[in-house]
Amino acid sequence: MVGDQILVVEDNARNMALLRDVLQATGYRTLQASTGREALALATAQEPALVLMDIRLPDMDGTEALRLLRGNARTASIPVLAVTAQAMAGDRERFIEAGFDGYLSKPIDVDALLAAVRLHDGRETPNPGANS
Ligand code: MN
Repeated sequence: MVGDQILVVEDNARNMALLRDVLQATGYRTLQASTGREALALATAQEPALVLMDIRLPDMDGTEALRLLRGNARTASIPVLAVTAQAMAGDRERFIEAGFDGYLSKPIDVDALLAAVRLHDGRETPNPGANS
């Protein structure tokens, strides 16, 4: 596994550009997918250190994409953070319960994004007590 490669799954071009630019400026390499199918193919082929997963995708729900990643031995252990505009009370808990390793709400807060990415990028010992 390459510790600096992050797969960004996002179908909104503006959000994708923001995530890509921030991550690249911070020294990560990015893979980009705009559908669940593309995400699964890229994750399987490249085995990124981390996946940032939009929830509303054109071809499937991000939670379904997560389920498929978890069901594939090559991608089962890759941390996946939900990135979503759903910011209702209880959503964080729902996404964690669904199996995501963390949760980021839109609009993206750059500091929160980088803190979450650093926590899950595999460069440091994971802290199982913290979800972001
Ligand atoms: Mn979307």
